[in-house]
Amino acid sequence: MSKRDYYEVLGVPKNASDDEIKKAYRKLAMKYHPDRNQGDADKHAEEKFKEVKEAYEMLSDPQKRAAYDQWGHAGVDPNMRGHGGGDGFGGFAEAFGDIFGDIFGQGRRTGGRQVYRGSDLSYALEITLEEAARGKDAQIRIPSWESCDTCHGSGAKPGTSAKTCNTCGGSGTVQMRQGFFSVQQTCPHCRGSGKIIPEPCPSCHGQGRVKKQKTLEVKIPAGIDDGMRIRSTGNGEPGVNGGPPGDLYIEIRVKKHEIFERDGDDLHCQVPVSFITAALGGEIEVPTLDGKAVIDIPEGTQAGKQFRLRGKGIKGIRSSHPGDLYCHITVETPVRLTEHQRKLLRELDESLKKGGHRHSPSAQSWTERLKNWFS
Ligand SMILES: [Zn+2]
Ligand SMILES: [Zn+2]
Repeated sequence: MSKRDYYEVLGVPKNASDDEIKKAYRKLAMKYHPDRNQGDADKHAEEKFKEVKEAYEMLSDPQKRAAYDQWGHAGVDPNMRGHGGGDGFGGFAEAFGDIFGDIFGQGRRTGGRQVYRGSDLSYALEITLEEAARGKDAQIRIPSWESCDTCHGSGAKPGTSAKTCNTCGGSGTVQMRQGFFSVQQTCPHCRGSGKIIPEPCPSCHGQGRVKKQKTLEVKIPAGIDDGMRIRSTGNGEPGVNGGPPGDLYIEIRVKKHEIFERDGDDLHCQVPVSFITAALGGEIEVPTLDGKAVIDIPEGTQAGKQFRLRGKGIKGIRSSHPGDLYCHITVETPVRLTEHQRKLLRELDESLKKGGHRHSPSAQSWTERLKNWFS
């Protein structure tokens, strides 16, 4: 199914202001929000809500909007988000302000307490072209959260304890009237936890957990290319109130190589040869990812000529066989000549001129093309 235009989804013109976009989003989100659409209409509304939310997320971010305006859906990847938004309702509370966000609730509720999925994390990993070609076992350091040693996870200062919230009686939610309807709202006092910590633990500031670092082993598959992402399930931020953790996305950046340039499964490199070798032909050494190789270039090789070494490219992640290596010949003009060498070249030039254009076929056809064009 092809994706609808984001502007069309929100029903705003392409030149809509940020305010207009926000207003349109609020109206549509109100209409389709899952909490207001129960029963038969539910499924349809949920799809609509997701579509509207994605459109808003893209168009409310100036950078993403610019990318979308220029390249359309190809310019923005809704899955590519940094931190936050892992609960699936990201951006919603932002647009509505806290009160509205609370009315609809940003997470699922279990037993009156709000449950949030942890945010996804992203991590950029730089590797060399050789590592991309062969694969690699990498170790990366990522943040992790551990139960606080000082308070053993309770969040309360040692010697004190958490108390049941008086406002909600420990349920984490309160009933509120909003216009015509009565809604359940997250308790503003305890923020849905059902508990109040009168004296927070000084080590974790009442969170009950502390941020540490952990080492993660990551298998980088052979053939991976620049910009690809590896998902490490469950290694994102932990969920809140028992919610599932987010995922960790490892984005691969391949360093620029000194010799090779990659294009899909193929590799390209520039091979300079002297103009004598280009004229006489001969064996030249070329680099490959597996070491040196020798190619035989024929007499009269011109600059720009490519020689293909089959199978000396990279075997992509989904490819059945490796690509090729293209060696592009550049012919080097000799520099810093001695007087004697200059003389030899002038003699060579005289000799070649006697043969007319016989020795320079491109120049001949070019002269003819020029003549035709002028006449
Ligand atoms: Zn603590
Ligand atoms: Zn409460």
